[in-house]
Amino acid sequence: MARLNVSTSFVLCIQGHLFSIRLFMEIILGLGRMIVMELKSKEDILEMLEGYEKIVLFGDSGCAQMCDVGGILQLEDMTDFLADHGKDVLGYVFVEGGLCDEFATKQELEKHKNMLEEADAFLVQACGVATQNLTEMVPEKISLPAVDSDFLGTMPERFHHDERCSMCGECVLDLTGGICPITRCAKGLLNGPCGGSMDGMCERDEDTECAWQLIYDRLREIDKLDNIKRIWEMKDWSKKHGPKTIVHEAKDALFQ
Ligand code: SF4
Ligand code: SF4
Repeated sequence: MARLNVSTSFVLCIQGHLFSIRLFMEIILGLGRMIVMELKSKEDILEMLEGYEKIVLFGDSGCAQMCDVGGILQLEDMTDFLADHGKDVLGYVFVEGGLCDEFATKQELEKHKNMLEEADAFLVQACGVATQNLTEMVPEKISLPAVDSDFLGTMPERFHHDERCSMCGECVLDLTGGICPITRCAKGLLNGPCGGSMDGMCERDEDTECAWQLIYDRLREIDKLDNIKRIWEMKDWSKKHGPKTIVHEAKDALFQ
């Protein structure tokens, strides 16, 4: 499927360096959190593109690249794949940072104006935010998602992602020793463990650690075991429900 030529190899080499630097920085800085996503199946992508001939691809150097779905290498691969299936891929738009950054995306859209005008459809190799952003920014074109967004998680090593946060809107990590029960407990319990916890593992399957065992161990380690006896206050789940909009005030200092 992927046909490497000199320019692709060069891009791959540069991308490899950038990826290594970025990965190194993220490991050093203890980051590596991202929206984790997977490419849809080839069949789904081709079905989605039925009736559209001239395609422009979109990717970015943020979560899309880190998840190996929308970096330059994957945009090149998709170009080859679609060309092999009779599509006319006009090119791709790659946004440094992320397609969720409207300012950066608008700049790239402006740069590629002529190519975009010619397109029948955009295929977005990034999360649902990216596809919706493009739908709103370029309503006269159809933007289609090439990926499924799965969860907010970590990347302990390349190609490996673990779910870590459900973005509940009311973080309780201060009480749970930095381990999220909502996301990491299979039942999302706020007052675990349940009766299915056995030898540190969850009843769900033999590979899943019991989040509440992890929380217990961590609280004991940091001498906060009293937290586990606490009857958790009611959680305000309304904060989880969307659609939400947050407008931050411009401030000179964090707390004003
Ligand atoms: S408590 Fe809520 S915000 Fe905090 S890590 Fe868990 S899901 Fe995310
Ligand atoms: S065994 Fe532990 S992680 Fe699994 S559902 Fe029960 S409390 Fe949650």
